[in-house]
Amino acid sequence: MKTLLVAEYRDGALLNSTYELVAFAEKLGADSAMFVVGGENDLPQYDGTVYLADASKYNDFNPAVHKQLLLDVIAKEEPETIVFSHSSYGWDLAPRIAIALNAAQISEVIDVVDNTFVVPSCNSKLRRDLQSKTSQTVLTLQGGAFGLADEPSGTPTVEKIDTDTTPQIEFGGYEAVEKGGVDLTKADIIVSAGRGIGKPENLEIISQLAEALGGEFGASRPVVDSEWTEHNRQVGTTGQTVSPKLYVACGISGAIQHLAGMKKSEFIIAINTDKDAPIGEVADVLAVADLKELVPALTEKIKNL
Ligand SMILES: Cc1cc2nc3c(=O)[nH]c(=O)nc-3n(C[C@H](O)[C@H](O)[C@H](O)COP(=O)(O)OP(=O)(O)OC[C@H]3O[C@@H](n4cnc5c(N)ncnc54)[C@H](O)[C@@H]3O)c2cc1C
Repeated sequence: MKTLLVAEYRDGALLNSTYELVAFAEKLGADSAMFVVGGENDLPQYDGTVYLADASKYNDFNPAVHKQLLLDVIAKEEPETIVFSHSSYGWDLAPRIAIALNAAQISEVIDVVDNTFVVPSCNSKLRRDLQSKTSQTVLTLQGGAFGLADEPSGTPTVEKIDTDTTPQIEFGGYEAVEKGGVDLTKADIIVSAGRGIGKPENLEIISQLAEALGGEFGASRPVVDSEWTEHNRQVGTTGQTVSPKLYVACGISGAIQHLAGMKKSEFIIAINTDKDAPIGEVADVLAVADLKELVPALTEKIKNL
């Protein structure tokens, strides 16, 4: 089996998600080649062919142009699978490629077992097993679902590629998330609030436990999306990746996008009313309890130590 990995490059740097694509190809047991609109001085550590288009000429993104560059490589390589990250780049480009190839697209893949692709459903509470019925398949991989066991290594063979496709839009650039405020990546202790806190007023009991422990409070995405706290406190694929000594997940189910941001924590305590919540799979301790009762009681105990 042959797979084509579509790496991403942004603001002069190759994205780390490139190595998640490589890890996926390894798990699939497929021969791979890579496509990137990137820079000659920032190539991946990778043993294989990299088809390289010049980002200074074609920008970090431009749909019609990147699509044509990629279709030319697909015509040459004839891969069975074309693999993107489940990112804004992949969301835009993958369906364009799937339509052009008349190929099935399977999005948000979190695992692969014997050519069956596993994707989350029902807000990550269930999983679906999918098989493609077309000869070529376009995939997007959920962030953090695949990782290399070892540090990346290798030197690619580079093939430069070009196109004379006329851009239909002008790419304005990516807008960086505003930095400032708390830096969770530096915290040794993080107590995070999930949707299970129920209402914004309950964030107070989470921040009080964080304070009593000498740490910071974080949050899952729904808490941030509801504007109960600021984005720099979000943990997960679209937030911060943290690895504190202690991570306390309060009312967080353990969706893969959240786990990707915190599963490397040294010790994980989860507080959840649901004994089967997926967070239990990574937690060292799962307290099956109502956070509104347990968290203030814990804070009180710690304060009195
Ligand atoms: C592209 C993409 C990127 C994403 N990026 C992120 C990201 O960076 N970070 C992130 O967190 N999510 C991210 N998500 C969202 C993710 O899929 C989940 O929807 C989200 O993590 C769920 O948040 P939650 O666990 O707080 O809420 P839920 O899944 O609703 O879980 C709430 C939990 O609280 C428990 N609970 C309820 N009441 C109580 C109580 N009184 N006491 C104790 N427990 C209680 C419930 O049993 C449940 O397990 C992303 C999704 C997508 C598609």
